[in-house]
Amino acid sequence: MPKSKGAVTGTLIVVLGDQLDLSSAALAHVDKTRDVVVMVEAAEESTHVWSSKVRTALFLSAMRHFRDTLISAGFRVHYRALDTHADATLADGWRAAIAEFAPEWACCVAPGDLRVTAALESTFGADAVPLEILADTHFLCSDAEFRAWAGKNKSLRMEFFYRMMRQKHGVLMAGDAPEGGQWNYDAENRKSFGKSGPQNVPLPPSFPTDAITREVFALVEEKFPTHPGNLAHFNWPITAAQAEQALDDFIRRRLSGFGDHQDAMWTTLVFGWHSLLSSSLNLKLLHPMRVIEKAEAAYRDGRCDLASAEGFIRQVLGWREFMRGVYFLDMPGMKTANHFGHTNPLPKWYWTGQTQMNCMRHAIGQTLEHGYAHHIQRLMVTGMFGVTAQLLPQALCDWYLAGYVDAIEWVELPNTAGMALFANGGRFTSKPYVASGAYIKRMSNYCEGCHYKPDVKTGARACPMTTLYWNFLDTHIKTFSANPRTALMAKNLTRMSDEDRAAIRTEAQRMLANLDAL
Ligand code: FAD
Ligand code: SF4
Repeated sequence: MPKSKGAVTGTLIVVLGDQLDLSSAALAHVDKTRDVVVMVEAAEESTHVWSSKVRTALFLSAMRHFRDTLISAGFRVHYRALDTHADATLADGWRAAIAEFAPEWACCVAPGDLRVTAALESTFGADAVPLEILADTHFLCSDAEFRAWAGKNKSLRMEFFYRMMRQKHGVLMAGDAPEGGQWNYDAENRKSFGKSGPQNVPLPPSFPTDAITREVFALVEEKFPTHPGNLAHFNWPITAAQAEQALDDFIRRRLSGFGDHQDAMWTTLVFGWHSLLSSSLNLKLLHPMRVIEKAEAAYRDGRCDLASAEGFIRQVLGWREFMRGVYFLDMPGMKTANHFGHTNPLPKWYWTGQTQMNCMRHAIGQTLEHGYAHHIQRLMVTGMFGVTAQLLPQALCDWYLAGYVDAIEWVELPNTAGMALFANGGRFTSKPYVASGAYIKRMSNYCEGCHYKPDVKTGARACPMTTLYWNFLDTHIKTFSANPRTALMAKNLTRMSDEDRAAIRTEAQRMLANLDAL
């Protein structure tokens, strides 16, 4: 029912910090004389997990720039900044807007975090303002479509979803067949940089900070002085125009090298050949189809090979859409899932990078500095340690949500709980992603100069990645032996003598008892 107390505003349009899209469904049929857009900066969004300075700064700066875009486009905007309105929660800000504008209706595009959906429903419900939650047209697969696809498939496998999406959207197709005769060139996407290290990797473009971003930096330092990370290297697109520039630069200078080296890591290389587009996509500064079309066009024009174009498109059209579908399908259970029953607290050095493990120091260090680590650093370094060190999944999930510029629950949680930590028991992965230090040695130069030695399992120089990996196999040997994907790993363990296995267990217990000291 419309409010009775003499409504002065038609619709209150709620725009969230990750909905910075002029073509959003919420902005499609606006009466610019009667409707009001409300945007709220709330302290809780930076404190419900201990959000890093770089993540908070990105959101606030991008939101303030979008506010100005809306005003220039003629919208009435009620912007509640943290320094002027000091709302503790989003709900506080919305309640104040309801009181000020007495709207007949409210609408919001579906949030990517069910916590926020619940807050919207209870706030507008309590004030008897009818609220419409609109489908998010930014994505290429709707919730209903994903549910229908999942319902038809016994197991959820990204590869089959991806093929369906390629066919449906006509991406990298040659008639009814995949371009090049093969759906997936993953096997060609796993090269290391070799002994000589990365060569001639182009740096990403620079985005100089403007007055709004500087104002946000000061605010973040004032309101969240003890939060992790720092703003010294902040260089993320904060407008749609900058996101477009980042996309152009990636397609022109780095896409051609993306395929071969997307899994490789190196101490002196933060971004590698990666696109750095996740924050722009997730804030909705950039549409995924635009990104896909530009990558496909680069291949068709001969500017990159098929393995690079396919490898990149698979991430955006496949993994990104798949993870969102899984989030809405499996929530709220995914948030509390703990398949292995792990309970260890997060070692303190996850928040500082101060560990003797070189791989962890680098992956965590660049996360704190830049709000960024690439997929393999998240999966096979910080995530893999989380599983084998038996960390409480929820503690590590909160760390990922806090630290990355692209972290929003719909995409963070399935990647962390589902993929990296196997907390949902392999709902969409066929095995836990675990390996010994030998994998990290092969894919990076982290092990050179590390206090530990990747092939040593016991003693003072035992590599925690290696010892905890073998201990994890030892603990779950029955499960690993029974799964054809992991049977070989299990066999390698059973080849060891009982004494060696016992020594690994003892070493692992010593490490697990004092993770902070590693
Ligand atoms: P590129 O390597 O250049 O890939 C291109 C694009 O593909 C990315 O921008 C992203 O939009 C998409 N993409 C690639 N892999 C995935 C994936 N697994 N799931 C969803 N989209 C993907 N991605 C996030 O956007 N937000 C997160 O909070 C997030 N948390 C993660 C946590 C863990 C433990 C792991 C293993 C992965 C996580 N990812 C997350 C996925 C992936 O690591 C990032 O999308 C990627 O590193 C972003 O860097 P990029 O833009 O340079 O990506
Ligand atoms: Fe990481 Fe072990 Fe290599 Fe050190 S030796 S960098 S801890 S894998």
